[in-house]
Amino acid sequence: KSNCKSETIFFQALKEVLETIQPLLEKHPEYLHQNIIDRIMVPNRAIHFKIEWMDDDNIIHVNNGYRIQFNNALGPYKGGVRFHPSVNPDILKFLAFEQIFKNAITGLHIGGAKGGADFDPKGKSDKEIMKFCQAFMSAFYNSIGADIDILGGDIGVGAREVGYLFGQYKQLTNSYDSIITSKPLALGGSLGRTEATGYGLIYFTQTFLEDMGETLKGKICTISGSGNVAIHAIEKLYEIGAIPVTCSDSKGAIHDSNGIDLELLKKIKLERRASLEYYALERKKATYVKRESYTEGRSFVWSIPCFAAFPCATQNELGEGSAKLLIENDVKIVAEGANMPTTPEAIALFEENNILFGPAKAANAGGVAVSVLEMSQNSSLNYLSFEKVDQRLQDIMSNIYSDLKQTCDEYKLDMDLVSAANILGFQRVADAMIMQGV
Ligand code: NDP
Repeated sequence: KSNCKSETIFFQALKEVLETIQPLLEKHPEYLHQNIIDRIMVPNRAIHFKIEWMDDDNIIHVNNGYRIQFNNALGPYKGGVRFHPSVNPDILKFLAFEQIFKNAITGLHIGGAKGGADFDPKGKSDKEIMKFCQAFMSAFYNSIGADIDILGGDIGVGAREVGYLFGQYKQLTNSYDSIITSKPLALGGSLGRTEATGYGLIYFTQTFLEDMGETLKGKICTISGSGNVAIHAIEKLYEIGAIPVTCSDSKGAIHDSNGIDLELLKKIKLERRASLEYYALERKKATYVKRESYTEGRSFVWSIPCFAAFPCATQNELGEGSAKLLIENDVKIVAEGANMPTTPEAIALFEENNILFGPAKAANAGGVAVSVLEMSQNSSLNYLSFEKVDQRLQDIMSNIYSDLKQTCDEYKLDMDLVSAANILGFQRVADAMIMQGV
């Protein structure tokens, strides 16, 4: 049905959904009669726009901007915005497609979308970032709205960028509508949103493990990435008594066998926006391996023996070779903080070897769930304490786990949470589509 032959990542995401929902289709032939598969795999709307902006030397640049409004059967479109040079329509289509099911699994009323630009924020001045964000918003602000499509953060889009995007929307429309989440607190952001994806990932993993008679307490954990998700996963791991020993960025990876120095990591990645190379310079006992030195392209992170592995950087970062290493080193659980970080071959190996696996659609849904809490706080003007948000997040992650477990029981899936997440998400969206007619 697609008119683009190079949609390899989108097809990877689509294939996984189609392969795993067979038991649902057998039980509910109405989804086939209603042609839901064809209807769900084509985005409602895909917007491609030009972004022109001027740098500090008065040179004009042009970037591509996108918003994929994939499905709004369950509620207004909702999904983050990514600024990274690798951004293209294929990557955003896969992210928006995954977002539909993730959002459905939370049980909240939101549809799925994703957007972004092939802009590289690295090395840009604060003024250049502001100008780019303003140009990005100006190019498509009339396609979004608090009840239509709500943006959020993702790779390269944190509180600073969200603030500038929001400011420009306000400037253009004269409204303070909640068209973006992950806002700074002073602009109506929610306490606990910054931490939500990383914390939610660890809450989900703990719930899963406890149900299997295990715990993360006292266990060695490996994490990839060193951005919003990775840093807050590491923070929560420390809070529950686990030992996170790795992190990585686009240039290399750190192994700190006594445990990652979280304060130093935050200083380097959040304040200085610098490379992890500086972490190793300040922590002499830590090992730093440059990306160029990875064996056969496998991240150094996955060669470190661990009980639990948390890929929190980017898509397809954990492949077959890394999965084999983790299995040889007796990993017990892998839970995805990033979106689709594990390749299909690696997932198959984990399944064959009975490694517990928490798929992103469920495990990293805490971020979007708290974004909905931010939206509801904005409209009610009733702001929640950090403790209340955190409690809601724990409840949501635990409900997601129970719903997946129930789906596993219903379809005899033997704790295959990948299939359960796809079945549950698909069913909720499909039912809403049928109710709304063609
Ligand atoms: P950030 O931009 O805060 O951080 C991304 C991190 O990953 C950076 O440390 C970056 O390195 C690193 N990275 C990027 N590419 C690679 C690579 N190829 N190898 C190793 N490290 C890499 O993004 P987030 O933490 O917000 O997002 C991470 C993942 O989590 C993404 O898949 C995102 O879609 C997903 N996600 C995020 C949510 C959120 O609430 N933020 C919600 C749900 C999912 P460097 O510093 O060098 O750029």
